[in-house]
Amino acid sequence: SYRKGGYHAVRIGDPFAGGRYIAQRKLGWGQFSTVWLAYDTQSSKYVALKIQKSAQQFAQAALHEIEVLLSIANGDPSNSKCVVHLIDHFKHTGPNGQHLCMVLEFLGDSLLGLIRFNRYKGLELNKVREICKCILIGLHYLHGELGIIHTDLKPENILLFSTIDHAKDPVRSALTPILERPEGGTLNGGSTMNIIEKKLKRRARRAVANISVRRASMGGEAPKSARCLDGIDVRCKVVDFGNACWADKQFAEEIQTRQYRAPEVILRAGYSFSVDMWSFACTAFELATGDMMFAPKSGQGFSDDEDHLALMMELLGKMPRKIAIGGARSKDFFDRHGDLKRIRRLKFWPLDRLLVDKYKFSESDACEFAEFLCPLLDFSPEKRPTAEQCLQHPWLNLRSSDQNEMHGQSNVDVGMSNLQI
Ligand code: ATP
Ligand code: MG
Ligand code: MG
Repeated sequence: SYRKGGYHAVRIGDPFAGGRYIAQRKLGWGQFSTVWLAYDTQSSKYVALKIQKSAQQFAQAALHEIEVLLSIANGDPSNSKCVVHLIDHFKHTGPNGQHLCMVLEFLGDSLLGLIRFNRYKGLELNKVREICKCILIGLHYLHGELGIIHTDLKPENILLFSTIDHAKDPVRSALTPILERPEGGTLNGGSTMNIIEKKLKRRARRAVANISVRRASMGGEAPKSARCLDGIDVRCKVVDFGNACWADKQFAEEIQTRQYRAPEVILRAGYSFSVDMWSFACTAFELATGDMMFAPKSGQGFSDDEDHLALMMELLGKMPRKIAIGGARSKDFFDRHGDLKRIRRLKFWPLDRLLVDKYKFSESDACEFAEFLCPLLDFSPEKRPTAEQCLQHPWLNLRSSDQNEMHGQSNVDVGMSNLQI
């Protein structure tokens, strides 16, 4: 992909926008771009520099993403709405062509990284609540104020962030765990910093050693909750607006990543903001359990779409006939009675029972969480609560007692030093 029309090759230290931004290290990449940590010499802050592939269709997509990001930034000057902020954008010409570049605020690991880091055990419910609040604030802003549908909400597209300004606050920054800070930056030039860094690395290694000893003595059982986030204010932001659209100006019929896709999208029955609420519920479930809510697969004689609809009905009950037969693709899946054509036997396993039986939630945690999620998974899109209504739900303000106190303190260090926030 590093050829004409493709990615732009970057070396550490490369200047962009007339020398304003200096490339530091690669943060990630996607189908359309590579993303670099860069130092902004004007603001003395680290930023994320997204460099788009140069071919016409990628430039077109970047222009759309910039348009969405501009309206997001313009409507939220205080940057408090839990959505990523565009700082700047420009063109950069290189050997592979002209690349549109977006300068975004620098954020940390994604929620998918957090779930993986926690070895797919699910996070403590209090943390899930905090993360849910952030996502809902972001969705309320997008839906209620801007009229934007994200259309690709999922753990990968929600990034953690730290409130520490690494460049402006080097002392506090040095006291925070290693991977929480940008590496290779210009701020750590002094030898004192390097010593602190070495000490921190040693401390993290020791803590890793401690935890594996304790885990072995506990019969290899991994701690259930995300120790890594204990005592930290979990904050996150919604990112990746490459697929976002305005509710009154839609581009694609097939939207969303498979597992987070709403039933009306599968059935081609039209969609609106409530598709993001469906994906939000799937994301919240995944945070709390470590498993995807729906992981459809095609099988003998049925497609992944049909399996997906079957999985939904096994968890949420039968889809009302009117909805089942109401979409342009309904006939591919349902007969005229509203029964699936090729998957006839469904095993109903409602959400609250699933949480107790499979994920070992307490009865009360399971009921409360299911009461929060189920309305968001209504087959009828208009009946799903809006992000604003959802923010009022009592579940968000409950507190569960931390049953994991006994695991002690030192793994807090491990978690924090391995996860970038
Ligand atoms: P996709 O195929 O997912 O649409 P894309 O080319 O549009 O990819 P993004 O998803 O925006 O690119 O970014 C690619 C990766 O770069 C992300 O998965 C993430 O790891 C990293 N990244 C993106 N934005 C930021 C940011 N603001 N701060 C830190 N890392 C980021
Ligand atoms: Mg992405
Ligand atoms: Mg994208």
